[in-house]
Amino acid sequence: MEEAFMQRTATCGSLRAADEGKTVVLNGWVHRDRNHGALHFINLRDRYGMTQVVVDDDASEALQKVAGELKLEYCIAVKGIVRRRPDDMVNPDMATGEIEVKAERIDVLSKCDVLPFMIEEENNAREDLRLRYRYLDLRSGGMQKRIALRHEIIKAIREYFYKTDFLEIETPTLIRSTPEGARDFLVPSRIYPGKFFALPQSPQLYKQLLMVSGFDKYFQIARCYRDEDPRGDRQLEFTQLDVEMSYVRRDDVLELMEDLFNDVFRKVLNVTLPAHFRRLSYHDAMNTYGSDKPDLRFGLEMHDASSFAARSTFNAFTETLAAGGAVKYIVAPKTEGHDYTRKYLGELESAAKIYGAHGMAWMKVENGTISGGVSKFFAGMEKEVIEATGAKDGDVILLVAHSDWKKCCTSLGAVRSRLGADLGLIKDGYEFCWIIDFPLFEYNEDEGHWEAAHHMFSMPQVEYLDTLESDPGSVKGDLYDLVLNGYELASGSIRIHDVELQKRIFRICNIPDEVSKERFGFLLDAFRFSPPPHGGIAPGIDRLCMIIANKESIKEVIAFPKNTAALSPMDDSPSPVEQKQLDELHLAIKE
Ligand code: ASP
Repeated sequence: MEEAFMQRTATCGSLRAADEGKTVVLNGWVHRDRNHGALHFINLRDRYGMTQVVVDDDASEALQKVAGELKLEYCIAVKGIVRRRPDDMVNPDMATGEIEVKAERIDVLSKCDVLPFMIEEENNAREDLRLRYRYLDLRSGGMQKRIALRHEIIKAIREYFYKTDFLEIETPTLIRSTPEGARDFLVPSRIYPGKFFALPQSPQLYKQLLMVSGFDKYFQIARCYRDEDPRGDRQLEFTQLDVEMSYVRRDDVLELMEDLFNDVFRKVLNVTLPAHFRRLSYHDAMNTYGSDKPDLRFGLEMHDASSFAARSTFNAFTETLAAGGAVKYIVAPKTEGHDYTRKYLGELESAAKIYGAHGMAWMKVENGTISGGVSKFFAGMEKEVIEATGAKDGDVILLVAHSDWKKCCTSLGAVRSRLGADLGLIKDGYEFCWIIDFPLFEYNEDEGHWEAAHHMFSMPQVEYLDTLESDPGSVKGDLYDLVLNGYELASGSIRIHDVELQKRIFRICNIPDEVSKERFGFLLDAFRFSPPPHGGIAPGIDRLCMIIANKESIKEVIAFPKNTAALSPMDDSPSPVEQKQLDELHLAIKE
């Protein structure tokens, strides 16, 4: 029987000097094609690598003709003999660089239209063009590597959980709408007019129900959906490693994650992480780094300036402190090739203002004393300021004051981040840390009530159980975030497993009993049947892959992401649907 096509007997990454003399068939794409008269050099590419194919000048006319008509990205089959390259032609940068394949026959399996961009290691085309032709963009070396890397990471994660007795359990993606903080995606029911499913923002409630069912070690690589406005590097759907365990305390969850990430980083990157990650309380992280996801690849710690700022003659400082606010500083170090010009200081100030600061004060350290900026308000205290801050000649002291401690911290924290990047202070490597002891509640100024800082199912720390209602703002929760290189990699908590306590939390979050019964009745019901104490966490897979791939956007590690406007330029979704489909769903579009 005639074969449909010449099927490969080797991949484009597999042939070595030891294969010399073998007749092989390769399938792949024409990556580069160079003609030297009757001599053709074709770089043939597939997922596994690249092989040089040569059409010698002694080739038949038919073969010459096919070779002469090849274009970039044609999908071809090549039959030929493996031969060693002459010594001066060996390419040490190519895994197959010692050999080439002398073609005897080339079949074009399919032709390629005019390319919207070249297939290169990294595609520098504009993002929408890359996404419009994502299937081609994915052919680039960089995307091929990253998608394979993602696979390796997920595989390592699964292997870890399989060997530690966890069960992988799927939970539904059509669920009851129970907003977890963000907006739900809704799916109208055709069978039940006017009713909706929601896509899960996370499997949170299901994983807790699995604990009630006795699956005491659960994990899942779960797809999550949040209908949020396009902002920064968000995707409407993302993937998380969802984990839940029964009979655990906080440290059990943290230690499990430390062990997991040690295992994954060793397997995937051959990198040894510390056995335990640094732990910082939310308060200390904010106070020292101005962020609850601090990048610890550099120092530049922030400090309290009140000891000297309170005695300055600068009203912004003295008044802020008198009113119970905070004044904090950072010492921007003297750095070769970097001038603290007014323009640059202005840029730092703008960074601070984004987080609520009214301004950023500064003073330079020169000849053992302070000058410029607000230094005149410290007349007679120059030595003291220098001693207190430890600043040296060429350094600049940057200060932010705010009546609100958190705003003071985050504003100066933004300055710290800018400096870290601009001064080249960020070391290579992976700096994990835990942020613990988060506040359980946050006040929603717009809606005028308290709400859960993480989600409503997290346990307050026991010492606050009597003061939940009287002083929600001071309640700390059994919450933890895992931070890596300045990114929040995971959030989790020990959960509430008591109906009455759960109802108290709902009420504090402005959800009266009737409403919680209606929305979360199934959870409250389940809690009537001896739920075990439990807790969990959910690391974001997209972010993890992005950081390991050393990229700045999660789109670089997702095969088919949406663009920054939350659209898919490839299939043009979201798209209108036919009237018939709307009718079936009992929906009418409101103009
Ligand atoms: N469900 C939570 C989230 O998606 C994670 C957790 O608490 O386990 O952020």
